[in-house]
Amino acid sequence: MGDSLRPDWSGRLQRLWRSARASSAPALVVSSPVNIKYLTGFDGTALLVATPAATWLLLDGRYEHAARDARAAGAIAGIDIRRVESRFDSTLASVTAELELAACACEAESVTVATLEAWRRVMPAMAFIPTYQWVEELRAIKDPFELERIRAACVATSEVGRALDTWVGAGRTEREIAHDIDAALLRAGCTRTAFPTIVASGPASAHPHARPTDRRLRDGDLVVLDFGGVIDGYCGDLTRMAGVGRVSAEARTMFDAVRAAHGAALAAVRAQAFAYEVDTAARRVLMEHGFGEAFLHATGHGLGLEVHEAPRLGRAGEDRSQTANRLEAGMVCTIEPGAYLEGIGGVRLEDDVLVTAEGSEVLTDVPRDLLPV
Ligand code: ZN
Ligand code: ZN
Repeated sequence: MGDSLRPDWSGRLQRLWRSARASSAPALVVSSPVNIKYLTGFDGTALLVATPAATWLLLDGRYEHAARDARAAGAIAGIDIRRVESRFDSTLASVTAELELAACACEAESVTVATLEAWRRVMPAMAFIPTYQWVEELRAIKDPFELERIRAACVATSEVGRALDTWVGAGRTEREIAHDIDAALLRAGCTRTAFPTIVASGPASAHPHARPTDRRLRDGDLVVLDFGGVIDGYCGDLTRMAGVGRVSAEARTMFDAVRAAHGAALAAVRAQAFAYEVDTAARRVLMEHGFGEAFLHATGHGLGLEVHEAPRLGRAGEDRSQTANRLEAGMVCTIEPGAYLEGIGGVRLEDDVLVTAEGSEVLTDVPRDLLPV
C-alpha cells in the first residue's frame, strides 16, 4: 500500500458542485462527521460550510491548532478554518452572513430538530433546505485513494479469515473466539475493527446480528463468523461459516443453498445493473432451495468510510429511492446472502466486491467452504 496517493479533497469538493443536487442550493452545511472527513480529511467535531467558491471548517478551540498544523502539512484539505468561540450556531450565523447566503442546504439525516431550531433562532431569515444523501452519493463511487485503502482492509481481513481454524473449535466460547479475531485484525495492520465482531454458534447462528456470548461451541454447531478491519478509515467486511464436528444434513443443505445464492448474486454484479437485481438473483436461488422465507436481510451494502453505506442491495420494491439505483463502476459493496431457521441455525457468506464495467472484482480472498473444526 504506498503513500503515493493522497485523498483528492479538492476534487471531491468540486464534484459536490458538479452533482445534480448543486442546483437546489447555493451552499451546503455539512454536519455529518464522516461526510466532513470525506470532504476535508478533518476527523473531529466540526461544521463545514461549502459554496462553489469557498469552504469553511468551523471548529472549537480543542481542534483549532491541530487542524491548522494538519492543513499546513497537507494532511487535511487547504480550506478556511474558523474558530468557534462560544456556540457553533452563532459562528455559523456569522460565516453565512459574510458569504451573504439567503439559503443553504442542510443534511436532514444528520441535523437534529434541536440543532435546526437553534440555527433558525440565530438565522431567522435563512431558508434551510433539507437534503438527503448528497455527499453519500458522491462517497458511493470510490476514488483511487479510497480503493487502495479498501483493498488493504480487505487483504488484512482476508488474512484473518484464512486463519479462522486457529481459534474456532469445540469447547471454546464465542467471546474467546471474537477476542482472538479482533486481536488478529490488529496484528494484520488494522487500526480497529469495523464493527463488533459476530461469532454466533448453534441456535444463535439463526440470528443475523447475534452478539458473542459465553456459550461454548459444541458438536453439530453451525458458527457464523462476521468481522472486518479498518485501514486508514476504510472498512473490510467478511463472513465465513464453520461447522463443528458432525453437522446435520439439514444444516449442510442450507449451507449449499446460501453458497449457490452467493454465487448467483456475484454473477449479477456489474455496472448499470439495478442494485435490486443482485438481491433478486440471490433470493431466487434461495427460494428454489426452499429457503426464500429464511433470507431475512438485504443481499449487500456499500462499504467505505462506514461499514454500511450506499448503495443498498435490497429487495426489489422495498425502498425505491435506494434499490431503484443502478450500480456504477467504482462502487464497493458486500455480497452476503444468508438463511436463518429458528431452532436449527443460520448460514451467511459475505465477500466485498468492486463493481466494474464488465462485472466485479472480488476484493476478499478466503475459501468459501464450510470450515470443518
Ligand atoms: Zn459482515
Ligand atoms: Zn456486511
